[in-house]
Amino acid sequence: MIVVDNLVKTYPGAGGAGEVAALRGVSLNIPDGEIFGVVGPSGSGKSTLLRCLNLLEKPTSGRILLGGDDLSTFSGADLRSARRRIGTVFQQFNLLHSRTVLRNIELPLELAGLGKDERRTRASSLIDLVGLSGKEKSYPSQLSGGQQQRVGIARALAAEPEVLLCDEATSALDPDTTDQVLDLVAEVNRTLGVTVVVITHELGVLRRICTSAARLEAGRIAETGRITDLIASP
Ligand code: ADP
Ligand code: ADP
Repeated sequence: MIVVDNLVKTYPGAGGAGEVAALRGVSLNIPDGEIFGVVGPSGSGKSTLLRCLNLLEKPTSGRILLGGDDLSTFSGADLRSARRRIGTVFQQFNLLHSRTVLRNIELPLELAGLGKDERRTRASSLIDLVGLSGKEKSYPSQLSGGQQQRVGIARALAAEPEVLLCDEATSALDPDTTDQVLDLVAEVNRTLGVTVVVITHELGVLRRICTSAARLEAGRIAETGRITDLIASP
C-alpha cells in the first residue's frame, strides 16, 4: 500500500516572484498490485508528485508511506536504499548510450553493490521478460523507441522494486508501440505483482491499463476513483 498523506510541495519563487505551491495537500491510497493513473493538465503538479514519490524531491510537508514505512523521514543510506524500492520509467528512456542493453539493465545492480554473477542472472531474466532476447549486446542507438523503452522497464525492475513509476513513459512512442509497451507494463504488474503508478496526460493510456486514477488540478486532487467512473467509454 502506498499512502500519500497531505503532501505539500512549495518551490521558492525565482527572481523575486512569490513561492509556487506545486502540491497543496495531496492525499492518496494506492492498494498493492494496483495500476493507478495520475492525470492532469500541464502545471497541475504531476511531475512534482512523481519526484516526491521516487524520493528525488523532499516534500515541504506531509508523508509518503510505503508498506508502512514513512519514506519522507529518510536520509543518507536509508534514503538510498529506499529509492531502490521504487523503479522509474522515463519519457525519454534515459539509457546510457555507451553501454549495451545488458549493461544498462545491470547498472542499478552495480550501484547496489551486487556481484557480477547475480547481476548477469537478473538482467538476463529481465531481458526475457521484456521480450528482448538476442539484443543483450546491442547498444541503445541500434534499437527502436519501443525496444529502448523495454530496456528502460527492465532497468527499472532490476532492483526488484515494490513500485514501478511510469513518467509519461509512452509519450515519445507512436500509437501501436504505445499499446505494446502498455501491455508489457500490465503483464509485469500481473506476473511480478509490482504496484504501478502511471503519470500521463493521455486518457487513452488510462483506459488501456489503469484500474483506478486520480485527477490533479492546480496541486490538488480534483477527483479520484475507478477508471470506469472517471471516464466515459468512447
Ligand atoms: P505537471 O507535471 O503537471 O506539468 P509540475 O509538477 O511540473 O506539473 O509543476 C507544478 C507547478 O510547479 C508549476 O507551476 C511549475 O511551474 C512549478 N514547478 C515545477 N518544478 C519547479 C521547480 N523546480 N521550481 C519552481 N517551480 C516549479
Ligand atoms: P544530504 O542530507 O547530505 O543532502 P541525503 O542522502 O539525505 O543527503 O539527500 C540526498 C538528496 O536527496 C538531497 O538532494 C535531498 O534534498 C534529497 N532528499 C533528502 N531527503 C529526502 C526525502 N525524504 N525524500 C526525497 N528527497 C530527499
